[in-house]
Amino acid sequence: MSVQPLVDRFGRAHTYLRISLTERCNLRCTYCMPEEGVPLLGRQHYMTAEEVLALARIFVHLGVTKIRLTGGEPLVRKDFAQIAQGLAALRDVSPRLSLSLTTNGTMLEPVWDLLETCDMRSINISLDTLQPAKFLALTKRDDFDAVRRAIDVAVQRKFRVKVNAVLLRGKNEDEIEDFIAWSAREPIHVRFIEFMPFNGNEWGWDQILPFHTVLERAGAYFALEKVTDDAHDTARAYRVQGGQGTFGVIASMTAPFCDTCNRIRLTADGKIRNCLFSDDELDLLTPLRRGENIEMLIRQSIHAKHARHGGVEEISRLSREDFTQRSMIRIGG
Ligand code: SAM
Ligand code: SF4
Repeated sequence: MSVQPLVDRFGRAHTYLRISLTERCNLRCTYCMPEEGVPLLGRQHYMTAEEVLALARIFVHLGVTKIRLTGGEPLVRKDFAQIAQGLAALRDVSPRLSLSLTTNGTMLEPVWDLLETCDMRSINISLDTLQPAKFLALTKRDDFDAVRRAIDVAVQRKFRVKVNAVLLRGKNEDEIEDFIAWSAREPIHVRFIEFMPFNGNEWGWDQILPFHTVLERAGAYFALEKVTDDAHDTARAYRVQGGQGTFGVIASMTAPFCDTCNRIRLTADGKIRNCLFSDDELDLLTPLRRGENIEMLIRQSIHAKHARHGGVEEISRLSREDFTQRSMIRIGG
């Protein structure tokens, strides 16, 4: 019997699940983690590996074809291998299930073979600066070399590598051209991300480097060509003429991509969130533990999804005070 796909009121089919494996992280990026840290819940509130896999299986049965592991830092989980292997085994349900990982790149060394075995070949590594001293200031940890090395290894091992850089006014905007030049030299995909507001991250409109500014800066410096974007791409991609890789901007704030959104998020404590900007979440973990019907709850969440920006009427009027929701590290970026 065929299963009805997860289509919302606006006709968007939801085929992409982002699972946050943890709220913990070994870095302290200023734009993500509130300075005072995030209060962690007791162990029993978080999904075990078995529960992650049980929920993922339900989503795959409902038509999810792509799963990305994120966090917090997903690689701090000691049972990461069990989860990655369990997800790879879901290809018995969906043979073309695509698996990917978003990581800060500091802990990749021991898992390269595992990622290859699980065919988890699309990997996003976050790196906001090419300067070690600035890396320390932005993340509060001295791990620049480890991340830079990880990106080199990923390229050598022929992973599909995206480098995520959140642009922060006055902090790393002077490196836009350096990042783009790197994307021309190597087969990496640099994605500049517009700074988004989350609880405790000192966000303000004046801190954002908007999409159009990045493009103007890039165009003044390089000869660019447009790259065709896939239907669900969040970044509008460009290439320096003759370059090996690409660069793009994830313009969540100034040119959102809500119309083609196919994403569902699952937090580390087992809550489904239908939009990064929405405070609405629905607990799946407690009902799973009670043996209740999860499919119905998933459909309820998808049905409730707003057309744009989680129902925030006019995003341009947003102020820092409007954001009381979870910090990014607790949602899963
Ligand atoms: N720890 C992993 C990492 O850093 O890649 C995965 C989790 S992190 C929350 C996922 C992505 O969210 C990262 O690329 C990070 O740069 C981005 N991010 C975090 N806070 C953000 C914010 N306030 N605005 C925009 N992007 C943000
Ligand atoms: Fe950690 Fe990633 Fe957040 Fe940085 S962006 S604090 S690496 S979860």
